[in-house]
Amino acid sequence: MKIGLDFDGIISNCGKLKSDGAKKLYDVDIPPVKFKKEIVVGEKHLTMEQYHELQKIIYGTREIGFLMEPVDGVLHFLPRLVADGHIVLVVTSRGEIELGIAKEWSIQKGLQLDFIGVGHGKSKANAANGLDFYVDDDLDKLEPLVDIVPHRFLFSWGYNAHVDVGAIAKRVASWEELYRTIQLLGGVR
Ligand SMILES: [Mg+2]
Repeated sequence: MKIGLDFDGIISNCGKLKSDGAKKLYDVDIPPVKFKKEIVVGEKHLTMEQYHELQKIIYGTREIGFLMEPVDGVLHFLPRLVADGHIVLVVTSRGEIELGIAKEWSIQKGLQLDFIGVGHGKSKANAANGLDFYVDDDLDKLEPLVDIVPHRFLFSWGYNAHVDVGAIAKRVASWEELYRTIQLLGGVR
């Protein structure tokens, strides 16, 4: 199968970085699992301006950007997908500078990946054309793929637990479950 993966929230876990950054910059305590714009800004922990400034620092500076942690299980199961013969493509909203950091970090972690960076606020529909399977931690990114990618999955985190996936996607809760799901769907190519 041709498998598309979002980067932040699927491969890298930036929750702790954002949480630590918010504490350092604004002296606000926000747990990593709650760190999503809708929640943080919606519940007025940070202003939109503060959130964007924090995002810029977390994703766009090398000193902090490289401190992100891999999502549990990704370093084990992602190479197994490739070894099983699947084609894996990362489709991320990161812009150029942030994408460069993501690529370098992935190499440091031993992950050989192809990336497409579509840019912030842009649809992933064009980049996802031809994929059989796509997983994201943001339902808004999955919605435009309904008629494009047959198998769509939302990776569950505390910050998206309240979201009703409806017919847009199914949920997976871990990399192990993601790997098993792909095995059941597509077998080995
Ligand atoms: Mg994401």
